[in-house]
Amino acid sequence: MSNLLLQRVEVVREWANATTKLKYGGYDREIGIGIGSGYRCPRHNQEIGGYTNSYHTQGLAIDWRFILLARPLDIWKTENHNPTFKDLGLEFDAFYSLIGKTFSQIGLYILDNNRYFVHTDIGFQSRVFASLNGEPCPVEVLIKKGKELGIFN
Ligand SMILES: [Zn+2]
Repeated sequence: MSNLLLQRVEVVREWANATTKLKYGGYDREIGIGIGSGYRCPRHNQEIGGYTNSYHTQGLAIDWRFILLARPLDIWKTENHNPTFKDLGLEFDAFYSLIGKTFSQIGLYILDNNRYFVHTDIGFQSRVFASLNGEPCPVEVLIKKGKELGIFN
């Protein structure tokens, strides 16, 4: 994986740690935000339907998944039940603004069953795109949908 990518990941990790600690002073928060996909070999990338020459195959992309493990509650929410940003103690708008400043390309995905993840990379292209149930979708529409579903706040 690219060192530059790891530095950018660290920016998000530090922000998430600081933010969740502020919001959940009483809890020992283990994980607020996790990496769902980083480097993929070309074969695995193909198997999961990734784009050919995806930045994931070049070690330049990270997909963020949102996983909550908080003590003493021991809440463990898996991808079948994504925590909302409110659950995580994070503000979606602040996260979105941070990744916009930190990465060159952002992809927001809401899948069926309200599961979601966020793609980020440090490739040459600079843009934000969105996908709703596998179909391209305007970013503003996807964010509005995420807020309606209670995923984003
Ligand atoms: Zn990705």
